[in-house]
Amino acid sequence: MGSECSGTEELKAKVVPEIKFTKLFINGQFVDAVSGNTFETVDPRTGEVLATVAAGDKADVDLAVKAARHAFDRGPWPRLAGRERAKILMKFADLIDAHAEELATLDSLDAGKLFALGKLLDIPDSAETLRYFAGAADKIHGETLKMSGEMQGYTLREPIGVAGLIIPWNFPSTMFFVKVSPALAAGCTVIVKPAEQTPLSALFYANLAKEAGIPDGVLNVITGFGPTAGAALSSHMDVDKISFTGSTEVGRLVMEAAAKSNLKSVTLELGGKSPLIIFDDADVDMAGEVCVAASRVFVQEGIYDEFVRKSAEKAKSWRVGDPFDPSVDQGPQVDEGQFQKVLSYIEHGKTEGATLLTGGKRCGEKGYYIEPTIFTDVKDDMKIAREEIFGPVMSIMKFKTIEEAIERANNTRYGLAAGVVTNNINTANRMSRSVRAGNIWVNCYFAFDRDCPFGGFKMSGFGKDNGLAALDGFLLTKSVVTPVYDSPWL
Ligand code: NAD
Repeated sequence: MGSECSGTEELKAKVVPEIKFTKLFINGQFVDAVSGNTFETVDPRTGEVLATVAAGDKADVDLAVKAARHAFDRGPWPRLAGRERAKILMKFADLIDAHAEELATLDSLDAGKLFALGKLLDIPDSAETLRYFAGAADKIHGETLKMSGEMQGYTLREPIGVAGLIIPWNFPSTMFFVKVSPALAAGCTVIVKPAEQTPLSALFYANLAKEAGIPDGVLNVITGFGPTAGAALSSHMDVDKISFTGSTEVGRLVMEAAAKSNLKSVTLELGGKSPLIIFDDADVDMAGEVCVAASRVFVQEGIYDEFVRKSAEKAKSWRVGDPFDPSVDQGPQVDEGQFQKVLSYIEHGKTEGATLLTGGKRCGEKGYYIEPTIFTDVKDDMKIAREEIFGPVMSIMKFKTIEEAIERANNTRYGLAAGVVTNNINTANRMSRSVRAGNIWVNCYFAFDRDCPFGGFKMSGFGKDNGLAALDGFLLTKSVVTPVYDSPWL
């Protein structure tokens, strides 16, 4: 009944390359943690240790913030003309393209991401994100204001300062550049804290940044754990901004730390339980294509049975296996913890009475592979329908009317995204306006672009990644007011 599951058995053993960068990157140098501590990052295909990486904590964050503070307060980066920063960022982007194969390999080894997708999409897209924001670096400007009487004003758009960028493991390269690109384009200096599961590509990017000519102290990378390195960053008195992507639970801690320290500005991109709503008039095959990444799928009753049947067929033909195998559709979960978490949600689904349509088990003997899993007869109050699973588990639910779809789609604390599949423009418009989520995909799902602001509502956070809105998040507006005497226009 399960999907095709090759695990690592058929693996044409991708030789693990030499991992070049495993130390912290502070003030333009790769250095050990002050404590000398390290941690292991594993290959999710096998569970074996891939590399031993420096475990930064408060002492290292202090050093990185000091370097970033100095680079911001005294260094050239925020003082360069925007076009000069842009030139360096463009060079950085070219270096990413030149190392696409190596970078995609690192993300596949560290995160289990499909190599072909990484090489064709994640890595070139990261370079493009950098170019997009580089292009904006010389278009940052304020306004002139004609005020009452003799008063005249103007606004300046200034970089916010030292930014801490804390990112998750699901898209190590994409997330790195979603945060770093607008921050650097704005003239900020940064400390990046990659996820402990996926530290390797971030360190590689640090080296490329140096090669591109980004001055020392402007981009620092502290690998390590959340409660130590991450918490030290979000509570630091000399950090002016935290841009965080991760779980809602940790986002709350970051905001608390910001509030208790220096009231630093915070952008939070948090969890979601995004609904995908498929109406009777939709093309079922198209809906099936669209639903791949969806976790909560509402299907109108007229096409429910056909949709369930086709989804089961699709899941069974889905190939799970080594991310370096080009015929594979789905790689392993990132680590043991995530693997166990997803399997425990599957158990909850079964004990709460949902019907397991396909999948539900681990794939193969070793590594963190899980079969694509579909539950039907899922009730809105079941754990699998309410909580974010972040794994290959889909819940299919039936609905009758558009009113019911709106109510159930909104019946969540989250508001990250939603999808609508319909051929009726009025249904699409009404759903787009009615669902309380920051991103609505109509007749598509999980579609991202750097021009399009992305960010959640409700407990999915606030602030935006991508688009010029993301650049705004790293800028402050300063108003300058002065009288103008003897103006001919008064
Ligand atoms: P996580 O919240 O556990 O960790 C995210 C980052 O925060 C990691 O770098 C981690 O080390 C750090 N961290 C942990 N504790 C910390 C603390 N006390 N202080 C500061 N930093 C701390 O999330 P995860 O498991 O790595 O990633 C999965 C989560 O990310 C999911 O909830 C997912 O929805 C969310 N996510 C959201 C978006 C979005 O755009 N909204 C995108 C991708 C992932």
